[in-house]
Formats: sequence, C-alpha cells, structure tokens
Amino acid sequence: APPLRPEAERITPYQPGRSLEEVRRELGLSQVVKLASNENPLGPSPRALEVLARPGFLEGLHRYPDGSFRLLREALGRRHGVDPEQVVVGNGSDELLKLLGEAYLQPGDEVVMGSPSFSEYSYVARLLGAREVPVPVSGGQVRAEDVLAAVTPRTRLLFLATPNNPTGTALEPAELERLEERLPGGVVVALDEAYREYVRPERLFDSLGPVRRGRPWISLRTFSKIYGLAGLRVGYGLAAAPVAQAIMRVKEPFNVNQAAQAAALAALEDEEHVRRSRELVWNQRAWLVRELERRGLRCDPSDANFVLVRLGRADGPVAENLLHQGVIVRPGVPLGVPGAIRVTVGLPRENLLFLEALDRALAVEP
Ligand code: PMP
Repeated sequence: APPLRPEAERITPYQPGRSLEEVRRELGLSQVVKLASNENPLGPSPRALEVLARPGFLEGLHRYPDGSFRLLREALGRRHGVDPEQVVVGNGSDELLKLLGEAYLQPGDEVVMGSPSFSEYSYVARLLGAREVPVPVSGGQVRAEDVLAAVTPRTRLLFLATPNNPTGTALEPAELERLEERLPGGVVVALDEAYREYVRPERLFDSLGPVRRGRPWISLRTFSKIYGLAGLRVGYGLAAAPVAQAIMRVKEPFNVNQAAQAAALAALEDEEHVRRSRELVWNQRAWLVRELERRGLRCDPSDANFVLVRLGRADGPVAENLLHQGVIVRPGVPLGVPGAIRVTVGLPRENLLFLEALDRALAVEP
C-alpha cells in the first residue's frame, strides 16, 4: 500500500468505551452494566421506535433519503426559533465537527480548543493539517482571557464544549459572553452542547444569542444523548447563515439516512421521554455525587449525564477492576484526566451496582 498522508499518520484511532457484548464474551460475565459512553439509560424515545416500526417505513428504503433534511430542519427551526436555513444536520454531531474543519481549515491554520476536552476536536485539526492550540480547562472552566491570548491571525476555529467532556462542568455564561464581545470575526466558534438538555436552568448560556446577532457561531446538539438515538447517528447545528451554508456546501449528498431522519423527527416531539430522561439524570446525578463524596471522593461539578470522579490514585487498575466486575466506565488517562474515572449516570440499579463495585475495587487497588 502507498504511504499514508502525513496528516493521517498523526491520528490515533478513536477508542470507544468497551461494548456490552465484547465484555460479556471476553470475561464470561452474564450481567454487565455499561456506563462508559454517556448514553440514555431509558433507551430510545418510544415515539421514534413507533415510526421505525410502521409497515410503510421499510418499504421506502429503496429511495434515497432527503439530502436537505427539509422536514427535520423545519421542525428544528420552529423548535429553536431560527430559520430552517440556519439548521444543519449530520451523521452525529461528530460529522458536523469534521465538516466545519473541511469547510474552514487549510494546512497550517490554527484550531483553538479546550483541554482536556472531547477528542474529536484534535482529530479534526490533525486530519486537515491544522495546528491544535489547547487552552486549559481548569476547575471545569475556560477563561476568556486564555482563549483570546491563544487566538492569532491563523486561528479559524474555536471548539468549546459546555458542559465540557470529560469534566461535566458547564462553562461560565459570563466568560462566553466576553468571548462573543472580543473574538475577531474571522474565527468560527463551535459551541458543543451535546449535553445541553441536562444543564440546570441557572447555568444555561443563551447560545443562540450570538447566532441571532449574526456572529459566526454554531451551537452543536445531538439526538445521541437525551433522545436516546446514539445508534442512529443524528446531530444538528444551529448556526449563523454563512456557517450553515458552508457546512451544506461541503457535506456529502446523503449524509443522514432515512431511519435517522424519521426517528429524529419523532423523538423531537416526544417531550415526555425528554422530561423523564432529564429527571432521571438530575435525581440520580445528585444521589451518585452524594454517595461518592460520602466516600471521600471528589467529583467535578456536573451539569451533564456523567460524573468525573477524582480517585486520588491511578485510574487504570480501578477501571480494569470494575470491568472484571461487569461495570464499564472510562479510565481517565486516555481522556486527559489521570487519576479520575468518568461514569455515566445510569438507572438507579446500575448506579448502585457501580458504587458497590467501586467500593470493592478501592479496597484492593492501591
Ligand atoms: N460532543 C461531545 C462533547 C460528546 O461528548 C459527544 C459524544 N461522545 C459528541 C459531541 C458526539 O455526539 P454524536 O453522537 O452526536 O456524534
């Protein structure tokens, strides 16, 4: 085979959380709990399942999907009070991150990003030959001053997640407002709000404000988390018109399949599922944090559907021990947070199993 592009050479493949089947098979365990990928423990929206099970649905599969996702864009536009032209849809919000790179980055350009944060930001920069410029996420926060100091005339994109992954803390609205005021207009701001629906109201940033004021901002959302559709891959963005147009220009013709579009449309209307999912996370998150703190463990303040637990010891052996007990969590080292584990908020039964397994793991791992 020919040599890889140097950009591809610099990429380490994404390491997903271990799958249930893999762990069941490899370790011969019958009961396995997966709390590693921030999925919805209540499952998919029932309204979405209903649509996929309709007899007519499968019969239309010989047709291409609507490459401009007209119905979904209209519904999302109505929901968020923006023009359908300002809505973009992708094969997960992952794809939208990459499309931003493909639209705006040339080799040697710079991408400013929170660190530690979601690994896709660095993937996008590397794939397109751009330079990654990290700004520290410290105490769960990114300071506007640090971002502004990192921006140069070569900066094209800024990736910030709120709540941030893997820390779970929502960024200070005041810092984001400062960024809107002071960032140069040549920087596209991608505010990744995959976990927005779990944020307590008093911590919410008005991310559509900059979009409405015509700034080159995009708020990225997803159907993977609160709507429970991670397996179908649908994410969306609400953006200033030129940013939305840029994404529509570079995307593949049929990037979001028929099942994904139909399920997303139904899930969007399923307010009951959203309410139940949010309530479960809010209640269980508070309970889980209390229990962890009662054990002397510190947790980063979380406004997401996961909690970053500071163990005060090496995370690898603890995560491995949990795995052997049938509880899958994310060890901190690959996420850039050594000495911590990231655990998704699950069903009450799953959270209890996690805590009991953690007690056993901490009793034996140094
Ligand atoms: N952004 C963040 C911060 C995430 O944690 C995730 C999920 N791992 C995503 C984006 C990607 O979500 P999607 O399933 O929509 O691609």
